Amino acid sequence: MQKTVVLLALGLVGGLAVAPEAKAAKRPNVVFIFTDDHSARAISAYGSRINRTPHMDRLAQEGMRFRKCYVTNSICGPSRAVILTGKYSHLNGFFLNGRTPFDGSQQTFPKLLRKVGYETAMIGKWHLKSVPTGFDYFDVLIGQGPYYNPPMRTTNDAGEVVVEKNTGYTTDIVTDKALAWLKEDRDADKPFMLMLQHKAPHRNWQPGPAHLNTFDDVEIPEPETLWDDYSGRTSAAANQAMTIARHLSENDLKLNNGPNNLTPEQKEVWDAAYGPKNEAYRKANLQGEAKVKWMYQRYIKDYLRCVQSVDDNIGRVLKYLDAAGLADDTVVIYSSDQGWYLGEHGWYDKRWMYEESLVMPLIVRWPGVVEAGSINNDIVSNLDFAETFLEIAGAAIPDNMQGRSLVPLMKGTTPADWRKSFYYHYYEFPGAHSVARHYGVTDGNYKLIHFYQNEEWELFDLTADPNELQSLHGRTEYAGTQARLEKELHRLRDRYRLPAEDPASTRPRQRRRN
Ligand code: CA
Repeated sequence: MQKTVVLLALGLVGGLAVAPEAKAAKRPNVVFIFTDDHSARAISAYGSRINRTPHMDRLAQEGMRFRKCYVTNSICGPSRAVILTGKYSHLNGFFLNGRTPFDGSQQTFPKLLRKVGYETAMIGKWHLKSVPTGFDYFDVLIGQGPYYNPPMRTTNDAGEVVVEKNTGYTTDIVTDKALAWLKEDRDADKPFMLMLQHKAPHRNWQPGPAHLNTFDDVEIPEPETLWDDYSGRTSAAANQAMTIARHLSENDLKLNNGPNNLTPEQKEVWDAAYGPKNEAYRKANLQGEAKVKWMYQRYIKDYLRCVQSVDDNIGRVLKYLDAAGLADDTVVIYSSDQGWYLGEHGWYDKRWMYEESLVMPLIVRWPGVVEAGSINNDIVSNLDFAETFLEIAGAAIPDNMQGRSLVPLMKGTTPADWRKSFYYHYYEFPGAHSVARHYGVTDGNYKLIHFYQNEEWELFDLTADPNELQSLHGRTEYAGTQARLEKELHRLRDRYRLPAEDPASTRPRQRRRN
């Protein structure tokens, strides 16, 4: 609390100094706030049944909320690589999570923004194994990064890459660093692009000190499909390894000794929160369905506690932008790298083309341009983010980018030839959570999925069956829809230049033989 007050005071002082220059800048600044694994279903502006996110809601009330923002490949690193390049995974080369580093020598939007005079900063989760390129400043977590006391990689005054220690809760620290850069380090004569990227609420959901007991006295509603038996679909849904019932570890459930990198003071606060709750659980000796219900509650509450810290910290950023006189000249965007399962189908994790993991939250506030409280229903994607940032900055969009700027949509006018369908492709099998490789197409009403290693297909009617429980593939009455989507799938694979051979098929197999 004390810290917030101090930062606000600094913000007011800083505001007097920077406001005239900010006003003189014709091109808007961009603050791109990005999290890891945050489902839109855990944002109250998106109709969450399970939590409230007042600061994300404020952005939606003052800006535009996109309902159909689809991720091209529902996993952390690949989503980030698509955003940087405006290209599908098979072209940017980062189609699997972290086997090889992102090729930072290729064209990315931060490099293009710098060319037109923007100052660029990347603070928080990078997750592409490489040293960031295209940024005037970076200060990033190493790999996943821990929830507490994260070492971070940055450059020193001599321009050398160094690792620095930090003490505190990572969501707070990333925000502290972003605010410090805004106040003290950036060049006030230039418009800026700040990528403020949190680790939260990624597994294994370690809440911050402020929220260790949030939700203690409530029962979170269970999703309709918590007890899904995976009938009605191909073998893929049944053969995964991401169930709350069978695949969460003691570490995930906080039934072990807690994080192993806490300071004694942090450890004391952690134990005071989890100790009594764990004791009560052990005494109850739950079995069967009752145990799974408890596991769901523990999982979802920890996830939502992490989200709550993100929301608190978005509040700090918005307050600073107001106090510094930057809010009117700054586009603020909130998104997360993919969707996520909040117990739907009995799952945690992502990867599938099913709705819960396909849909990304996307909220854009752009004063004077985006109508406050507006909602967009067009099919948009993380494939469009790079192009959007470039158009906001007045930079040219290279022809070899595969998405399209969202700026016309933000202004309330969808071009007549905007995309009516979307191509998806997930590659990481064998891999964590055992989700079969698949690609597919959706027009927002129907979805066709091809699990191509097993030659299995699924077809869903998203209006009649929004939870995607019963595949209609092969049914006579849907033959016309199926044929139409098959044709569209071929068209999109051609258009996006998918190679005939699976680009992920050769390298990992050769490596395993070695
Ligand atoms: Ca992620």
